[in-house]
Parts: sequence; C-alpha cells; structure tokens
Amino acid sequence: MILLYLLLAVVLILLLICLIRACVLQKKIPDTPLIRKENPDAMRIAQKLSKMVQVNTVVLPGEDNPQQFEPMIRTLSEQFPLVFQTFRRLDRLDNNLLLKWESGHPEKEGLLFMGHMDVVDAAGQWDHDPFGGEIIDDVLWGRGSIDIKSGLCGFFEAFEQLIAEGMTPQRDLYLFCSRTEENSGPGAEMAVEYLHRHGIHLEMVLDEGCSIGESPMQGIRRPYALIGLGEKGYVNLKFTARSNGGHSSEPPHVSTIGRLSQFIARVEKHSPFRCKMDATTRRMLETFAPEMPFAQRFVYGNLWLFAPILEKVYRYRDGFQGAMLKTTAAFTIIEGAHAANILPDTAYVICNLRLSPHDTVEQVVATMQAIASRYGLETQLMDGRGASEITPLGSVPYQAIEKSIRKHFPEVGVTPYLILGGTDARHFTKVCDNVLRFVPHALTNEEVRTVHGRNEHISIHALANEVPCYKDIILELNR
Ligand SMILES: [Zn+2]
Repeated sequence: MILLYLLLAVVLILLLICLIRACVLQKKIPDTPLIRKENPDAMRIAQKLSKMVQVNTVVLPGEDNPQQFEPMIRTLSEQFPLVFQTFRRLDRLDNNLLLKWESGHPEKEGLLFMGHMDVVDAAGQWDHDPFGGEIIDDVLWGRGSIDIKSGLCGFFEAFEQLIAEGMTPQRDLYLFCSRTEENSGPGAEMAVEYLHRHGIHLEMVLDEGCSIGESPMQGIRRPYALIGLGEKGYVNLKFTARSNGGHSSEPPHVSTIGRLSQFIARVEKHSPFRCKMDATTRRMLETFAPEMPFAQRFVYGNLWLFAPILEKVYRYRDGFQGAMLKTTAAFTIIEGAHAANILPDTAYVICNLRLSPHDTVEQVVATMQAIASRYGLETQLMDGRGASEITPLGSVPYQAIEKSIRKHFPEVGVTPYLILGGTDARHFTKVCDNVLRFVPHALTNEEVRTVHGRNEHISIHALANEVPCYKDIILELNR
C-alpha cells in the first residue's frame, strides 16, 4: 500500500514539474501570416530569374547531356557578369559549374554556395508556359522558378551586388551549380571529388532543401525558417511474387498480386520501424514548444519525460509526424500481367523507404525481407544509402544564417531541421563539417505545392528578399 502511495506521489510530482515548466516556458507570439515585404528591386531581379527559367534544363532519369547546359551557363554569365569576371571556373566537370573567387588566404577554409540548374519535366496542363518565365502581377511562373533557380538567382545576385560594392574575399569563395540533382546523377560527387583531390576543406556548404514557410506544425501560428542540418536516407526495394501463371478463368486461392497486396497491407498497417527522436528533431520540437497551445506545450516542453511516449505514439502516425521520427515505407510502383485475362507468373512492387538516422540500410533491408518472406516474396535491394551525416548544432555558419534571418525576417521563427527529402548537399560532408540546407525565400504552402508539380511559381518579392539575407550571410562569414 505504501508503495502505491509512493508511486502516486512520484507521478504527481512529475506532472507538477511538467505543469510548472509548461507555464514558465510560454512565449506569447502574435498570430503572424507569411508576409512578403515589397522589394523595390524585385522586378529587376525577377527578370534575371525569368531568363533562367526560359532556358529549358529538364533532365530525365538516366539522361546525361552536358551540352544541354551550355545555354544555361551562358545565361548565368550574361545575367551576373561581375560574378563571371571575378570568379574563375575551376574545371569543366562535364558542365557542372564550379567557380572560385580566390582570397589569397589558403590557410582559411572557404565557403561554398550551391544549387542545381536542372529541373524536373513540366508534364500536365499548365496555365502559363513552363518555360516562358512570364511575370504577371508580381508572380513569376515557370518550371524551376522555385526549385531551385530561385536559390541560384538569389546568391548569384548577392555576389553580383557585393562585387559591385567593392567586397574583397577574406577566405576562398566557391559557387557550385550541379546539372544532375533531379536525376540523381554524379554532378555533385564530381565536384566533391575535385575539391577533395585538391585538398580543399570548407568552412560551410549552403545548399537548398529548406526555406521559410507557413506554420510548420499544428499549434504554431507564425512562419518558420527551417535550417536543414541533415537528411534522411533513401532506399528502393523491389519485392517479387512468382507463380506458374495461367489463365484467369481458373485463378488460385491467392494470386501473386494477392500476396503482394497482403504484404503491402501488413507494412502499411503496422510500421515495422521503431521511432526514435534524433537530436535535431528534439531541438526543433523544443523550439516550437513555448509558442504552442497549453496541451502541446505540456508535452513538447517536457520531452525529458514525454519523448519515450511520443516515440511509441508516432509509430502509428502518418504524414509529417510519422516521417519525423521513423523510417517510412511508400509503395510507389506495382506491376503484374499486361492483359486482363492472364494470371501474372511474376508480379512486383517497388517500395521507396526514407531512413531515419537510427536505422541502417542493412537493418531496413533485413526487416522488410523478413516480412516479405512470410508472403513468399523475393526481396531485391535496387539502391540505397543511409541518412546523411548531421551538421553540429550551433556551428558558426549556422549562427550566421540564423542572425541574417532574424535581421531580415524578424517575425519568423528559426529552427534546425532534419529534412525528410534528399539533396545534393549530403555528398559534401566529405569536404565540409558544416553542410547546411537553406534558401532564404519565404514561400506560401500554395507555392510549395507547385514544386515538381504543375504551375510552379514564386512571388517576385520572395525572390528579391533572398538577396539581402544572402549578402549578410556572406559578409558575416567572410572574415
Ligand atoms: Zn531542388
């Protein structure tokens, strides 16, 4: 009995501590919509991006055509002439563009700003020519207007202005534009190899992957800048069911497709992957907590107590919450027979998995294989990599980016983030300890939804407001 009272007392004390913390943590943040300050320079900068969008740089899977990118590189050199006079092109790299502005201080580690010139195709019916670069009512339309010619335009323009203003580099500065990001080609690896071969180690690499967006999570009532410290891994698995086939008029009890379906239903119903809160996600939730409503603040403000419980609950969540703490499995391609009256002797499904930092490729393959074998399926690893290395919290480059965001977007929150997708940046951990992913454009949810979809577009003010933010990041670190 005494033990029970003791236990109850402990629980009550813990809850009281949580309650006090939830009250003390509270930060009153007024509801803030995503605003884009009018930028007097917006039309001039947008016309440069328009020219970049007008160059068709679509790449398809498996394609490799360096010549295709000559017009894009020419356009960049026309729009940013001072950059191309000041920076030196380091190597042809099959038209993956690597530029360097020599500082004369080889003892200091350099800074590298990067993005990709290639875009995904522009299928479907668009309201505006995807390669027209039209600017209508302060909106620029076209494939790549966000992803990620906007980012390229932003930092090229920042350097163009800084050169005109007489800046001198205090450490070597690099620009890198890959042409193979969207089709997972070797462009970024070639650049990394070049840098590695020449003994170049960098203080910072800044790539795409995150930006400023509307409320990142339920309960947050203002926009947030997410700064990507790392990214999840990526694995494709193929599961094949085999049988003797035959005529569809005499079907077996369970067909090849039936077995695949049972397997898919099993994986979708109970995620086989355990949740674990990595340090970056924990810091993000702790950043959000003070401005959340009481109930959420009570939980996220007391992760010392609730993290293990969240790890249990989130295993059964989907969408963003589900993806935050665990490896996800998405079935994306399925194929059986090619005629309606044939029982397929072979049917397969492809599963795309995004790996949390606490899971390895081997573990994930073994887990999926164990389940698949119960349904008589063969498992084949098509390609895969684990999560990227994670940039340490609070590095000098991170602080410089945060400082610039707070200056130019004072109404916006800032948090580190583990990105759920993939970028070229992951390759650069070989030559840099501070690989970060952030483009200072403030995008509405509606704009974000058009990335890789139809009618991609960006506010020309969101574009132009990148430039002063980039300039301050460069100036802060150029010492
Ligand atoms: Zn991109």
